[in-house]
Amino acid sequence: MAVFSLSDFADHEQVVFVSDDKSGLRAIIAVHNSNLGPALGGCRMWPYATEEEAVRDVLRLSRGMTYKSAMANLKLGGGKSVIIGNPRTQKTPELLAAFARALENLSGRYIAAEDSGTSVADMKYMSQFTSHVAGVHDKPAADGSTRSGDPSPATAWGTFVGIKAAVKERLGRDSLDGLKVAIQGVGNVGHHLAGHLKEAGAQLWITDIQRDNLLRTAKEYDATVVAPEAIFGLDVDVFAPCAMGAIINDTTIPQLKASVVAGAANNQLAESRHGAELMRRGILYAPDYVINAGGIIDVYYERVGYDEATVTAHVAGIYDNLMEIFARARSEERPTGEVADVIAEERFRR
Ligand code: NAD
Repeated sequence: MAVFSLSDFADHEQVVFVSDDKSGLRAIIAVHNSNLGPALGGCRMWPYATEEEAVRDVLRLSRGMTYKSAMANLKLGGGKSVIIGNPRTQKTPELLAAFARALENLSGRYIAAEDSGTSVADMKYMSQFTSHVAGVHDKPAADGSTRSGDPSPATAWGTFVGIKAAVKERLGRDSLDGLKVAIQGVGNVGHHLAGHLKEAGAQLWITDIQRDNLLRTAKEYDATVVAPEAIFGLDVDVFAPCAMGAIINDTTIPQLKASVVAGAANNQLAESRHGAELMRRGILYAPDYVINAGGIIDVYYERVGYDEATVTAHVAGIYDNLMEIFARARSEERPTGEVADVIAEERFRR
């Protein structure tokens, strides 16, 4: 297969193919851009059907990380890695050690974090062989306690701040009291987000395909439970996707009654044209990689010195980032996602 001519290859600085016969490791590490700093991004383990699928995935994801970190004003570049294999059956200590040695050989140009198919425990294990893994240290909290490397509380806080920005822009209000919000997916991020929204006085509707997650959030935050397919058409102000990607598509957009789409899920638009369609219908979209940057900000500070107040303040900057995007989108009459890309490019190409 051709690599350089793939559209997803666009401007990648370095793509490394790694193999280790002894452990069966087959992995690809992609560094998209390191203008602003070392490339940080998740390490995904997935049983890709073909090598081409794995190459395309890693290239697309690493490029996305450049935009996310630049937009979040972090001194980080964008990168990602994929290990080809089934994480349930093929993830052995030998394979992780071989992958960690490959990271070490890159001398910190790429730093791996957990992603689908890998865990904080895997990163901790790899840290015996390389210092180029992130999300492995317990963090000091403001109340003197410590918490694990899990970035989802920071992601949820950033998403909450981002919803405030979108509500200010679209509905002209600062308070979330009485705001109606539908959350799709109440896992790690969605559950914490529900807590922040409840505290701010919002009314919540939630859905999930895991019953225990659903019941936990419904009970703790007095949220109304709806069926997965009913979440899109609710008469609410905000739809917050916090489950999976591509859920803003030809089928769901006509159902939406919300005037704001703002949630933590990655790659929410099935295609970029769906951003234009939201705009045409007067629905304000908070670009996913801007609003969900709390996690990468959290991981960044773990590497440079963690202080909860500093992290919280940096994550709160998501409000201003979104306001800048919304204002420019309004004046240029362009979809918010397009404007976000332009601003991110201005930052990492500067
Ligand atoms: P998670 O797996 O803990 O939670 C996702 C929840 O969505 C689960 O409870 C799952 O059952 C539910 N779900 C899956 N499919 C569904 C469906 N069809 N309908 C309703 N519910 C469904 O994941 P998370 O860490 O909370 O992340 C949520 C989203 O945010 C993901 O898209 C993730 O990529 C993105 N994200 C997460 C972070 C982070 O810090 N965890 C950072 C950036 C982006």
